[in-house]
Amino acid sequence: MALMNGQQYRESLKKMRPNVYKYGQLIEDVTTHPATKLHIDSVAHSYDMSQDPEKSHIFTNTSHLTGQKAHRWNTLCQTMEDQIGNADMKREQYRWSGTCQGATCAGWTGLNVLWAITYEMDRDLGTNYHERLKKYFQYVEDNGLALAGAITDAKGNRALKPSQQKNKDTNVHIKEIREDGIVIRGYKTQICGVAAAHEIIVVPGSGYKEEDKDFCLAVAVPKDIEGLTIVETRRPSDTRDEEEGWDSPKVGNITQAYLLFDDVFVPNDRVFMCGEFKYSGKILGFFTAIYRAAIGACVAGQGDIMCGSAINMARANGLSQKVFQDKLNQMAVNNEVTYGIGLGAMAKGKKHLSGLFIPDALLAHVNKTQVAKLPYETKVLTQDISGGIAETGCMPSYADFQSPVYGKQLLEALEAGTDGESRARMARLVEWLTVGGGIPGCMHGGGSPDGARLVVRAMTTWERFADDAKRIAGVTGEIAEPPKNK
Ligand SMILES: Cc1cc2nc3c(=O)[nH]c(=O)nc-3n(C[C@H](O)[C@H](O)[C@H](O)COP(=O)(O)OP(=O)(O)OC[C@H]3O[C@@H](n4cnc5c(N)ncnc54)[C@H](O)[C@@H]3O)c2cc1C
Repeated sequence: MALMNGQQYRESLKKMRPNVYKYGQLIEDVTTHPATKLHIDSVAHSYDMSQDPEKSHIFTNTSHLTGQKAHRWNTLCQTMEDQIGNADMKREQYRWSGTCQGATCAGWTGLNVLWAITYEMDRDLGTNYHERLKKYFQYVEDNGLALAGAITDAKGNRALKPSQQKNKDTNVHIKEIREDGIVIRGYKTQICGVAAAHEIIVVPGSGYKEEDKDFCLAVAVPKDIEGLTIVETRRPSDTRDEEEGWDSPKVGNITQAYLLFDDVFVPNDRVFMCGEFKYSGKILGFFTAIYRAAIGACVAGQGDIMCGSAINMARANGLSQKVFQDKLNQMAVNNEVTYGIGLGAMAKGKKHLSGLFIPDALLAHVNKTQVAKLPYETKVLTQDISGGIAETGCMPSYADFQSPVYGKQLLEALEAGTDGESRARMARLVEWLTVGGGIPGCMHGGGSPDGARLVVRAMTTWERFADDAKRIAGVTGEIAEPPKNK
């Protein structure tokens, strides 16, 4: 069954062993629990759209293994068009839910990256990782699985390497190598969409040298594997007692989790790197090139919803779109800038010998710097257009709207260009998008912007620019960099 529909997807999750916790309680059924349901509903929608005559071209692609149709998030990106398909699917998903859909994102990217890395390791080292990965890829595709991607370790002290940490568990590591597999332990944190995933792709959190080779592992584990405990994080919107009320968003709601690996045994057929430290940096390099090219489309999709919310708020306040057109234009420009830089990275990308198409790293990292900036400006403009009721703390709670004593008057107080309830619903959406749980990881999702700036600095040909400027200015003498202060 290469293609599942939304209901089949929900049923498949229900069959898994419950090991996801929140607020100290085990979540028995992630498909119905309020902490995880909306995220799973969004992923289910993507499964349904894979079979929708009008949308299936966005949500599916052709398998490089079988030539058959498969969920796009189960396929290898072999061309520029496939990478653009990645971006367009994500923008479409954000337009549907207003937020991030982790279970069809980072794990898929990890799987694609491992296709190239295992190819290189087998070629250089004579290992058989690529064949293993091919079989696993086929398994994912045959079963139409959703994959979370775990890269970020808890890390510990940021100034120290994993092997220097007081507690080795701050970074996921190989505890034991056995004949039939490996035992891993440690913590991965801030992992998106785990509750909605069937499997987790685990890769190193950074590029490491020999002293940190224990931290160089790549594996695929079922979400419900023995020894793994998953703890869902608290969202800003969780503090609202009116979460279930009519004024809260009805789709989406990103989920994030801490993964606690406690001596988890991973059989060899699911191990794709075991100590080959020289390739760990490359995993990060390929991962960020793909991920940071596409992330511009994610935030553009959320920006589209912010434009829509701002227009609705203007009208709900009794004003026309025209009053705010300059601000709306700026919001649209911000969206297309991040989307467009990502497409540029894809257009300038190259095919790896393994068949994976990798976007241009410089442009992908430039995109990350803009993704950490422009969506915040768009949020400010959305709030600016919407008025005070869309900012936290300026609207009564759902429970008060329900009061038989004064609820009706509160709704009357909110009447403007539309009825009070519609205005309150739209204001809550703006609050959620701009200061609440709907904020995708613009700043640190996909890695920190400072990390991206380091790559931009390293990849930019500064000396060539300096030489060109000298030539154009007709300077023939030396203009030297001053000696470094000792
Ligand atoms: C919404 C969201 C979704 C996410 N989804 C996923 C996911 O699905 N999978 C996943 O693996 N991760 C995910 N992440 C985690 C994300 O990749 C990390 O947040 C990101 O890589 C930054 O790591 P950190 O949060 O540990 O920040 P830190 O490492 O604590 O960084 C904080 C700041 O310190 C700087 N810094 C850190 N170390 C140093 C140093 N040694 N020297 C100088 N400066 C330093 C950083 O550049 C940054 O500016 C997600 C994050 C968010 C916010």
